[in-house]
Amino acid sequence: LRESDPVEDHQITVCIRKRPLNRKETTRKEVDVISVPSKNQLVVHEPKLKVDLTKYLENQHFRFDYAFDDSCSNDLVYKYTAQPLVQTIFEGGMATCFAYGQTGSGKTHTMGGDFHGKTQDCKKGIYAMAAKDVFQLLKSPKYRMLHLVVSSSFFEIYSGKVFDLLANKAKLRVLEDGKQQVQIVGLTETIVDSVEEVLKLITHGNSARTSGQTSANSNSSRSHAVFQIVVRSPGVNRIHGKFSLIDLAGNERGADTSSANRQTRMEGAEINKSLLALKECIRALGRKGAHLPFRASKLTQVLRDSFIGEKSRICMIAMVSPGMSSCEHSLNTLRYADRVKEL
Ligand code: ADP
Ligand code: MG
Repeated sequence: LRESDPVEDHQITVCIRKRPLNRKETTRKEVDVISVPSKNQLVVHEPKLKVDLTKYLENQHFRFDYAFDDSCSNDLVYKYTAQPLVQTIFEGGMATCFAYGQTGSGKTHTMGGDFHGKTQDCKKGIYAMAAKDVFQLLKSPKYRMLHLVVSSSFFEIYSGKVFDLLANKAKLRVLEDGKQQVQIVGLTETIVDSVEEVLKLITHGNSARTSGQTSANSNSSRSHAVFQIVVRSPGVNRIHGKFSLIDLAGNERGADTSSANRQTRMEGAEINKSLLALKECIRALGRKGAHLPFRASKLTQVLRDSFIGEKSRICMIAMVSPGMSSCEHSLNTLRYADRVKEL
């Protein structure tokens, strides 16, 4: 995809991003098995063996709304994915952007920004870019007279439970009232007046998310992180619009259901369940009258309003690692994304 390609207008956008081979992969001479031949196509060149043991490549083609190759920056990805959704929340709708993929494929890099050891630069991530545009639109002639109040929250869903990333990971309850309104009780919602304030919240939440972890035993790959920007009409405590930006758990964790460790197995089952429910809920948005199985997982339950209403818009960025050793996982990711929206 190039800067000059038009930004399309879809209620549901599904795209794919391929990250570059990293230094470790290059050092061990990992082969890049993914190519992006056009702005919406991706091909996996899967190495296979014939019965007589000669090697060949099986080429599998996929088509999405957009395909970002390894030369695309976060800025470019943002322009075609989350940016067109910012306006939705000013128009009184729900906007939702998901990062989906295997652990190590670039979800956090895309959403949360860059991490170098202990320092992080969240300005380069989609959370921050979206926040910047929210404040820009807030001041624009078109929306300034709405006098909307902006607030932010940041939480994590781990093993079917909700933890507040802005309050020492306090465990929170999810309640559903008679009108099917879903509420996270006691979730920290901080009123923000500038991008700088949002950046502080993102940095705080990002570090809460990764604290107390080693990379080998990373909980962050087993949890969904949800960053929300809410705009409210002044006086009445009514939500005008909400932008949810979600860094999903590594999809390969959903296959941990045969692990020897009971805890790991249960977490894997929970991740699997939530990603399947998510796919069904997104598909339901595109089909009038379709059953919305939002209660099937905590993730889809807390995002219920995102899957209903004419004004809701959803974008999914599916990430793939380019290496041959990730081929199976990449194909799983591509098949999932393919079913979220059948083009
Ligand atoms: P995930 O959150 O999906 O587990 P990360 O975002 O942590 O994966 O990415 C794994 C590593 O790859 C990180 O060191 C990250 O900086 C790097 N990375 C991911 N995507 C890109 C990209 N598009 N360009 C450069 N480096 C990337
Ligand atoms: Mg991550």
